[in-house]
Amino acid sequence: MAVERAELTAAERRLLGDLFAIVEEHSHEAAVAVDRQRVEEAFVYACAHHADQRRKSGEDFIIHPVGVAKICAGMRLDTETLCASLLHDTVEDTSASLEEVNEAFGEEIAGLVDGVTKLTGLTFQSRDEAQAENYRKMMVAMATDIRVILIKLADRLHNMRTIGAMPKQKQIDKARETIDIYAPIAHRLGIHAIKWELEDLAFQTLHPRKYAEIKALVAQQRAERERYVNQAGEYLAKELDELGIDAEISGRAKHFYSIYSKMTKKSREFNEIYDLTAMRVIVGSVKDCYGAVGVIHSLWKPLPGRFKDFIAMPKFNMYQSLHTTVIGPEGRPLEIQIRTREMHDLAEFGIAAHWMYKESAARDATDSDGKLKWLRSLLDWQQDMADSREFIETLKVDLFEDEVFVFTPKGEVKSLAAGATPLDFAYEIHTDVGHRCVGAKVNGKIVPLSYQLRSGDIVEVLTSKRERGPSRDWLALVKTTRARNKIKAWFKAESRRDSEHSGRELLQDHLRKQGLPAQKVVGSALLADVIREMGFRKADDFYIALGGAKISPKVVVNKIMQHLKQGEAADAEPTAADDLLQTRRRRARPTTSSSRYGIMVEGIDEVMLRLAKCCRPVPGDPIVGYISLGRGITIHREDCPNVAVLKRDPDRFTPVSWEGDAETSFRVEIQVDGWDRHRLLEDMSRTFAESGINIVEARCTVNHPMVKNRFVVEVGDTRALDQTITRLRNIDSVFDAYRVTPGGG
Ligand code: MN
Repeated sequence: MAVERAELTAAERRLLGDLFAIVEEHSHEAAVAVDRQRVEEAFVYACAHHADQRRKSGEDFIIHPVGVAKICAGMRLDTETLCASLLHDTVEDTSASLEEVNEAFGEEIAGLVDGVTKLTGLTFQSRDEAQAENYRKMMVAMATDIRVILIKLADRLHNMRTIGAMPKQKQIDKARETIDIYAPIAHRLGIHAIKWELEDLAFQTLHPRKYAEIKALVAQQRAERERYVNQAGEYLAKELDELGIDAEISGRAKHFYSIYSKMTKKSREFNEIYDLTAMRVIVGSVKDCYGAVGVIHSLWKPLPGRFKDFIAMPKFNMYQSLHTTVIGPEGRPLEIQIRTREMHDLAEFGIAAHWMYKESAARDATDSDGKLKWLRSLLDWQQDMADSREFIETLKVDLFEDEVFVFTPKGEVKSLAAGATPLDFAYEIHTDVGHRCVGAKVNGKIVPLSYQLRSGDIVEVLTSKRERGPSRDWLALVKTTRARNKIKAWFKAESRRDSEHSGRELLQDHLRKQGLPAQKVVGSALLADVIREMGFRKADDFYIALGGAKISPKVVVNKIMQHLKQGEAADAEPTAADDLLQTRRRRARPTTSSSRYGIMVEGIDEVMLRLAKCCRPVPGDPIVGYISLGRGITIHREDCPNVAVLKRDPDRFTPVSWEGDAETSFRVEIQVDGWDRHRLLEDMSRTFAESGINIVEARCTVNHPMVKNRFVVEVGDTRALDQTITRLRNIDSVFDAYRVTPGGG
């Protein structure tokens, strides 16, 4: 071995002795014995490498790895875990390299050390609960061996125990991380002894005053409670002894943080939470558990509905025990848990306890794949469906082999399908980031786009300033459905854009060949009619069909010619095709005649009419006439808010109606809201043109990224108006189009 300084100082000898004392105390005939020789070698190696290092408190650094190893020994973990916990900071903090550790201690221990080093490199920044959940999963996913997590938990516990030497802000950060990340992981793994201590230490750091308060309240009642539990316990022990049941009886400490969170979450008083006296009975066998509960129920009256058999029906985290509440001596309620030693270890140490007892389970866990097969088999064994589903959901992580967890450069955690590449990540961030992706960096280094992301990677997408669009071979690189769909959608849209473009060109070519003024036809109401006639709701679809050779340009041109001829026949004077195309627009211009609005006023022939500016009625709107003195009759929409006001003088209203088919047009105001984009205005004005609607006034206000467009247009009737509004709404990036009426109606 490459350790130069095999001589241990007296202080170091003492440390090693302490560690072995704990190993001794927790040795168990069902577990594999710890190889002290190897543990000592790891200790010597750690001493040598941390030789000149000190902790913030001024102590020798070696105190820390030994502290971590002691916690692991308390969980009765195996030789490899103890060695790895002694070595866990050597690769991170000293000159030792992973290769050296590998050479000196073998692959298994080096693997554990490497796992812990990687987890130490992660920093958690967000306080968001969903992010915390992802982060917890990432930690578990990165640890291919569950023992890495156990060492990491022990490491955090020792750091929390000695947090006093840290600067205040660092203490607070670590305490929060402990509550958000580490304690929940301990809980999921069923390691309650560690979970409770982590929570209490963090609680003390974050809320020192509250902690002291609760501690004092608990202490106040402690002596009295201990007396009560001792008396009841002695009595019970005697009764059990007579039946030949050997029992270890003790009181049970409540944890300060759990009292505090019950007080805050359920807003209860201290006494409401701390009212029950609790007792624990540990016996030798499952049979004795049931025997003991029988004795307890015969001595003291059980409270109905409080007996729970978690032995027959274990909890999701494998917890087993019998629970009951009885009216104990002095008429006080007494909460009693009855369990075997093995069940007790499981309750305290969860997954770690399985290590202690199931030798074969431990072997499975370190199989060549490093997968947690035994965990899966434990899950199969679960009976409580709801709880076990929760357990599976949250602990799945490797089981989890279908997910990877990576960081954004800002420290946000994203979860992706296993095998995902930087492209998947880019599309996960934003579709546009995906389309602009030109490369990626992982942990600061440029990687190919085919790189497979690993949990814990920090991924940065390199994008081009100009929209480039994806490449077809990306479809072979991406793993997630989202990215695949986005890429396919882009190509589909592109081919639509291409088809539409060629459709437009095709039509113009054919029009020109026929000697028709292509530009004018394209913007005319006549073409809009043809498009509708051919069954297209949107002009875009018409051009795409044309470009995609689904309809023939000849047919379209023939139809246009027909329409032009009909127009000529209808019109007494033959005009050039060119003029005909303008016909509707010219007609649309209001004339000066008094009946120009196409409105009939009952009983009156010649009367001065005007359309109210407030509601701008158009043919088809329900209308009323209001006699304004000296100014003839004003036509309002029936639903105009002003009408409601004017109705106070009902005599001045007169019935009016629209004449048959109005050839005139009316001005309405239309508002179109959307995300601003290139050529949006062009698309909007084309839509108006294709519906034969004249724009009289336009006002576009860009307020990035939004744009609000206000148009005053001339429109023939409500039907055409409604159709146009629908078409406007269908334009890409438009999210609303509506007629502006007073009062927003
Ligand atoms: Mn450490």
